[in-house]
Amino acid sequence: MNQSTAIQHPHYPHLFQSLDLGFTQLKNRAIMGSMHVGLEEEKQGFEKLAAYFEARADGGCALMVTGGVSPNIKGWLKPLGMRLTKSSQARQHRVVTDAVHKHDSKICLQILHAGRYGYHPFCVAPSAIKSPISPFKPSALSHRQVLKTIKHFVRCASLAQEAGYDGIEIMGSEGYLINQFIAQRTNHRKDQWGGSYENRIRFPLEIVKQVRAAVGREFIIIFRLSMLDLVEKGSTWEEVVILAKALEAEGVNIINTGIGWHEARVPTIATLVPRGGFHWVTKRLMGEVSIPLITSNRINTPEIAEEILANGSADLVSMARPFLADPAFMKKAQASTPEEINTCIACNQACLDHVFSNKRASCLVNPRACHEYELPAISEKAKQSKKVAVIGGGPAGLSAACVAAERGHQVTLYERADELGGQFNLAMRIPGKQEFAETLRYFKQQLKRLNVQVKVATEVDEALLTRESFDHVILASGVQARQIKVKGFEDDARVLSYTQSILNPDQVGQNVAIIGAGGIGFDVAELLLKAESNPNSNRTDDDLKDYLDEWGVDQEYQQRGGLKAPESHAPQRQIYLLQRSSGKLGAKLGKTTGWIHRAQLKKGQVEMLSEVSYEHLSEQGLHIKVKEQERILEVDHIVVCAGQTSQRSLETCLQKLNQEYSVIGGALKAGEIDAKRAIAEGQKVALAL
Ligand code: NAP
Ligand code: SF4
Repeated sequence: MNQSTAIQHPHYPHLFQSLDLGFTQLKNRAIMGSMHVGLEEEKQGFEKLAAYFEARADGGCALMVTGGVSPNIKGWLKPLGMRLTKSSQARQHRVVTDAVHKHDSKICLQILHAGRYGYHPFCVAPSAIKSPISPFKPSALSHRQVLKTIKHFVRCASLAQEAGYDGIEIMGSEGYLINQFIAQRTNHRKDQWGGSYENRIRFPLEIVKQVRAAVGREFIIIFRLSMLDLVEKGSTWEEVVILAKALEAEGVNIINTGIGWHEARVPTIATLVPRGGFHWVTKRLMGEVSIPLITSNRINTPEIAEEILANGSADLVSMARPFLADPAFMKKAQASTPEEINTCIACNQACLDHVFSNKRASCLVNPRACHEYELPAISEKAKQSKKVAVIGGGPAGLSAACVAAERGHQVTLYERADELGGQFNLAMRIPGKQEFAETLRYFKQQLKRLNVQVKVATEVDEALLTRESFDHVILASGVQARQIKVKGFEDDARVLSYTQSILNPDQVGQNVAIIGAGGIGFDVAELLLKAESNPNSNRTDDDLKDYLDEWGVDQEYQQRGGLKAPESHAPQRQIYLLQRSSGKLGAKLGKTTGWIHRAQLKKGQVEMLSEVSYEHLSEQGLHIKVKEQERILEVDHIVVCAGQTSQRSLETCLQKLNQEYSVIGGALKAGEIDAKRAIAEGQKVALAL
């Protein structure tokens, strides 16, 4: 591998080093990892994908990998998913590859056969073993069908070449078909495709060998290798090394790191995973092969990417969600303005949660993501510059103020509290949610860059509005916590709001009842289970060790799959989490993250009760009925997390003044308000000005 030694970047010399693959060069070390975004199956999907990828290519990403494309119908992730099986389909991809190539960027098509993860009745696998996360039992592929499937991979790769892609990525990890062949867990075959490790890896090696023969030498083949399965009967480290070497010998150009099967019960990309939390896996393989290695998972700043590359953990870094959050990530890093980057906070709320609910992906901090084709660029100036007031400095107001100012309006942002941020100031104090501080940092930086006048500790009233005479007022005054009426609650110091408990967790006693099991009830429970909260903590090696120990990840690979017994600690407090409704607590939490929150509370021995009615508070404790059975919870404190109501008292005044105004975020609708809706509404209203 030749590495260019041209001019070094002053801050990120490793990140901005080019990479020579012999027949082609990558201009830097950042790859946009594969991510299905839901545009693939939409009407005008290729045009939309072209706009989406072009924005990232223009933003400086060296190489992008498409979402998974199936080589045949049986390999579909879900019915009518994208597949590439004939030339007429390949021609449709041209608009995407041409758009990317305009910007000196490269794009590879990911070939993904879902195997037993296919959400349809005709899914196939090496053996007929149902996955714990799918309702469909696969049929076992016959020997002839295995050979045919290999041919389908080859056909797909050739069609990708015809479509103008620079290469392909063969998806061999996350528990999909190829991974199912490799692992003992899912491969119980007795023929030449099963049994010994040599037999189990025959399938991926045949695919690579035949693809290479078909596409020639000058076409990138990336193989996504599962280096840490995180499931029982997964691969050993020795097996991972054997396969990596064999893949290199068969003609793979780059090996990408896969971490954890989808059915693994270890969070691998959620916000609680420390930044760069799996770079050590790729590092183990460095030196075992001579082709470049890509590392991935929770890399979201140029600093962490540079650190990983500089310490020799990998040759390239893959980021997927960070490029959703900010298509110009690399351009901003190159300009040495990392503070301008809209950082991915790993919440999954608008990307993976959408995809898993069959909705188009987007991004909580960048609502334009995946809507580049339909929505105007935020930098497009408004026809007429207006004098605009934004009232409320929470996520909705911050978003509205920044977008309005970007479009050329003259904006003043008013906030009643001493600091900007609203509910974000609470969210970032929850353990594992510290990344929310990055969104605040980003917004504050934009306010500065765009010369928005910021007036904190300022109550807007009729006199101010009359004096200033705004063309438009955006009311983003947010929410207030819902007060609930229970006998004995009034004036009792044991009853706390969620704000009080989040700001002063040390003042909450050993035994606590939490009323309300929505997102905030779960957040408060998680905070109170840990000793303390640290709103500004940066990643430390201790954090990584704690996370790996807590979730049972073994860096020594003593057992197959890299699992070990998770460490458990005596919980800091006895916590009861209560809701009036029936059903599982936390049912409305994020599709891809809800299970993590429930697992954390289970580990903390939180007693979760549904169908609760709150009777009264006495000296003895909180009297409740659970499914009509009386019970007394002997608690020191009760934290009320019963949702919110809108704060929009100023509206009467705006109407009286005949002022043109819009209402957004929690002020508009408090029910199930979250940062995703707040930021999107802020952007929408500002784009309409
Ligand atoms: P929420 O999700 O609306 O939950 C409010 C809870 O309070 C419900 O469990 C409700 O359950 C209970 N409740 C409502 N009215 C009540 C009353 N009068 N008396 C007693 N209990 C009552 O609100 P939130 O927890 O404040 O969260 C606000 C928003 O932020 C939500 O959109 C949430 O999704 C989002 N958020 C999400 C996360 C996350 O995904 N991890 C974290 C934080 C916030 P019952 O009616 O059954 O009692
Ligand atoms: Fe990152 Fe959240 Fe945006 Fe997804 S929705 S890209 S996790 S910030």
